[in-house]
Parts: sequence; structure tokens; C-alpha cells
Amino acid sequence: MGSVGAEGELIRQVVRELPGYQPVESLESVARETGRSARDLIKLDANENLYGPSPRVLEVLTRPDDYHLYPDASQQAARQALATYTGADPNCIIVGNGSDELIDLLLLATIEPGDEVIAPVPTFGVYLARPPLFGATVRAVPRRDDFDLDVEQIEAAINERTKLVFLASPNNPTGNLVTSQQLVRLLRTGVLVVLDEAYFEFAGRTLLPLSREFDNLVVLRTFSKWAGLAGLRIGYGIFPPSLAEAVWRVKQPFNVNALALRAIEAALADLPVQMQKVIRIRLERGRLFRGLRRLDLLQPYPSRGNFILCRVTRGDAHDLHRRLLARGILVRKYDDPLLRQYLRITVGLPEHTDRLLQALREIGSEVES
Ligand SMILES: *Cc1c(COP(=O)(O)O)cnc(C)c1O
Repeated sequence: MGSVGAEGELIRQVVRELPGYQPVESLESVARETGRSARDLIKLDANENLYGPSPRVLEVLTRPDDYHLYPDASQQAARQALATYTGADPNCIIVGNGSDELIDLLLLATIEPGDEVIAPVPTFGVYLARPPLFGATVRAVPRRDDFDLDVEQIEAAINERTKLVFLASPNNPTGNLVTSQQLVRLLRTGVLVVLDEAYFEFAGRTLLPLSREFDNLVVLRTFSKWAGLAGLRIGYGIFPPSLAEAVWRVKQPFNVNALALRAIEAALADLPVQMQKVIRIRLERGRLFRGLRRLDLLQPYPSRGNFILCRVTRGDAHDLHRRLLARGILVRKYDDPLLRQYLRITVGLPEHTDRLLQALREIGSEVES
């Protein structure tokens, strides 16, 4: 082998300059570091559904079947089930290997070098990390102090090079919704709006019906959160017809595996069972919020997702993160200066709330005012 890339010519500049991606650590590696067993850890750092998937999903996943065959490239049955669930036209629905993949495919289909995309921050890191790889510049528009969208600033940032705007509703990590008025105002600018409803089922509110009125709205959803299937990687998008056609053209034929396609049908057939868990998480969210507010350690922000963002009001957020970890509890911390003093806590089962609040009370008595 020669000196491949020694001078940096092999690797694209944008890739060389990319900050290393830091996904949440695996449970196994945290267990190793903290000297605990993985089963002992309480994982509240990635907004997973700790109740897990519904029984029918588990049943189809363990059924031995024809895994020597390629999956259905047309995603027919899964798209039909999703059309019934969402009320959208199956021709406008595309399933991705997680909604993360659909974000990449959207960028692949739309971005020309020099284009811009807009993301109101703080928000989901993928919106900031991926566009540069496709030749786009990200304009991060700050949200207001209460994390509400600053629609005027977004409108002011839109120019002839703007390709799309990413909006998450509820937003990760701030938990607040985009209102119908805000979305309509942005849609009226004519720019493509990507509305990420990853937490729709926990919010019980969707703006998907606006896609009947506007041909510049994409809605993304996922099975990672409500359906308890983060490990299978299932996301879907509802696209305007011409964009759906373009995304079909750029995507790999077998982007979604056979287990995932089958799990979509099973999860939707078992909807009432899984929604019971979603309802329990929504109730637990209220109890966790009230418990956190009583501690004099954190300021929790109201959330419509399965997580609560908290500003650490006493001590340092990274220090608090460490102290929780030492007690076997994982929460999400941030290096982003906008969120350096915040922690995001996933809503788990009641016993997780109990152990978390107990740990925080203990830590609170240690940390000086
Ligand atoms: C978790 C999350 C996703 C990721 O979804 P996958 O389907 O697991 O790729 C997408 N968007 C937001 C806002 C999220 O929080």
C-alpha cells in the first residue's frame, strides 16, 4: 500500500474537517467503565422506549423465515400499512433505515454545492452535521429564550440559496412544538420545510394535514421512539409527489431490511397495545417533571416528547452527569455551548423515575449552593 491520503488528497476536505461523531456510548462500554452490569444501568440518555416493542413485533422477529431472500425493494406492505396509519397516499411514503437515512437522502436529492439549509438551534445534531457533506452550508438560527421558534429570524435568513429548513416538532432536546401558524408562515415563503415528527405519538399533535395544502412540506417520523424499535432502524417520510419520486431515485433499493419491514406491519397491527405504553410514558413525564421541579437543582422545561430538558441551576451539568453515572444512571449531556449547562432526561418506567429522583436528592445534598 502506498501513502494513501498522506497528503490529504484522497479524502475530501469536508470529511477531513468533520468533527468526529460521538454517538451515545453503548450500554456495554458504560457497564465496563462503571464496573456495573449492563442490566443494572438505567438508560435515560437516548429517548428510547424502555417498555420495548409490542408483543406482536417480538413474535414476528423471532419467527424463522425467508431471510435468504432480499427484502421487498418496493416496501409495498409496509407503505400500505403506513398509509392507513397516517392517512397519507402510499405513493408519497418512503421507508428509511431510520429517519436519519431519510435526512441524508433528502439532502442527496436536493443539494447543489453552495446551497444553504436553515436549522433553528438548539436542535437535533444531525441537521447540522450532515448538510456540509452534501455541499450545503448550515445557517443556525437561534431560538428565543424559551426555545420557541424565531420565525422572523428564520424568514430573514432565507435567501435565493436556501434549499430547506429543518424543524423538529416536538423539538429535540427542548420538547416544544411548532405551531400551525408558525409552519404555515414558513411554508408560504415557498422554501422546502422538513418537519421532523420523531416524537409525534408522545405529543398527540401533528401538522401532517398541511401537506394536503402545501407541496413544499416533508414530514419525517420514526419507529425508534414510540414503537420501541430504535435498534431495528425504521423511519419514514411523507413527501410531496415530485420529491418522493426523486428520493426513490437516489435511495439504495434494499435500504430497509426484511425484519424492519415486517416489524412495521406488526407494530401497526398492534397499535392499541403499544399506545398504552406511550400513554404511560406521557403520564410518567408529568410525574418526572413535578419531581424534578421540587429538587432545587434543575429547572425542567415542559416537554411534549418522551424526554425532559433541564437547566442545571446548582453546580455544573457535566459534574452532575458524572455523579449520576457513578450511581448507574445515564442521562444526555452536551458539549454544545448553547446546552453546556443542560441535561436531557428520557422518561422511563416509574421505577426509573424513583431511582433518578432519589439519586438527585442524594447528589443535591452533596452539591454546594
Ligand atoms: C431520535 C430522533 C431521530 C432519529 O430517528 P431514527 O429513525 O432513529 O434515525 C430523528 N429526529 C429526531 C428529532 C430525533 O430526536
